[in-house]
Amino acid sequence: MFQAPSIPVPLLDVTRDNRPLRDQLLEAVARIVDSGQFIGGSDCQRLEHSVAQLCGTEFAIGCASGSDALLLALMAIEIGPGDEVIVPSFTFFATASCVSRLGAKPVFVDVSLETYNLDCLAVEEAITPNTKAMIPVHLFGQCADMAPLLDLAQRYNLHVIEDCAQSIGATYQGQPAGSMGSIGCFSFYPTKNLGGFGDGGMITTNDAGLADRIRLLATHGMRPRYYHQAIGINSRLDTLQAALLNVKLPYLAEWTAQRQENARTYCEFFRQESLDGSLILPHVADDSGHVWNQFTVRIPGGQRDWVRQKLADAKIGTEVYYPVPLHRQACFADLGYEVGSLPVTERLATEVLSLPIFPGLTQREMLSVVGALRQIFASAGAAQKGAA
Ligand SMILES: *Cc1c(COP(=O)(O)O)cnc(C)c1O
Repeated sequence: MFQAPSIPVPLLDVTRDNRPLRDQLLEAVARIVDSGQFIGGSDCQRLEHSVAQLCGTEFAIGCASGSDALLLALMAIEIGPGDEVIVPSFTFFATASCVSRLGAKPVFVDVSLETYNLDCLAVEEAITPNTKAMIPVHLFGQCADMAPLLDLAQRYNLHVIEDCAQSIGATYQGQPAGSMGSIGCFSFYPTKNLGGFGDGGMITTNDAGLADRIRLLATHGMRPRYYHQAIGINSRLDTLQAALLNVKLPYLAEWTAQRQENARTYCEFFRQESLDGSLILPHVADDSGHVWNQFTVRIPGGQRDWVRQKLADAKIGTEVYYPVPLHRQACFADLGYEVGSLPVTERLATEVLSLPIFPGLTQREMLSVVGALRQIFASAGAAQKGAA
């Protein structure tokens, strides 16, 4: 057994990544303040170009958030009343709310217990004549199993909108997230792998027609000025946000490598301590370039909340993504999903726990997390023996 320091560990500390860039960031702010141009301009174009390059797509279009990226994507493929869109239930709310906001029906399907991503067989079972699209989410930084999903999409003539909010830079069989479906949707929310200083989003596509339509819809459907061709929305990426993200983007690959290194270190420590029997380590699929937005373990046997409380007592930050699956949310009650309708999703909601994985995390901090878990499980084992 190794000697574990007992030190507090935050779930996420974005200031550690931003601090070394402080001068560059403030310079960018000063430049924008002095320029007087706060919407559009070369900073936005530069970021769009960089993201398109990173994702290997022809087009990238900035917008106000990841949620808006999803909404605009569905608007562009003309989703509306009477349409059904297949989505996972084990995801953030925005993956499904975009469907409802357009008057269409989200159809929730189950996920894989191993990867937490869409179960292809469940998707096929959910397809009806009204199905127009599916939104695979690349959850926690790992791509969904896209090959069978793209095959289904082709057979049933469905659009595939990738929710890449947690997976910028991830790959599936060598292909970047956001380049495989009709449209990819990204978020620059501060907790994402490329986190901004407020809200921001990006949409990727290889389809020139869709790119043009998305640009139109994101600016009130207005073209030329004050002539409205479609009922669009106002969703733009601020120039200031783009300028700050341009400073951060060149470091993304390095930060991703650190997240990957942290994931490897955790797995090694957990195995050394034989804790891989008490908690189930995240599964990395074959040929998957995982970017570890979250390091999410499973703690089965109804122990998760108790373990989480013990970690909190030891000042170790964790989070449950997500405690209530979308098909069981109050706002979707009218869709009529009963308890037990998506068993894997419901099970995951009671078992998952995300541990600190951010790039600036130190080896000492990871040792502290593993040491705390070792103590927690040892005391649980002792209590069980005492009771027997
Ligand atoms: C963060 C997130 C979104 C929404 O992005 P915002 O920029 O916060 O609007 C959508 N889907 C998933 C899976 C997310 O994690």
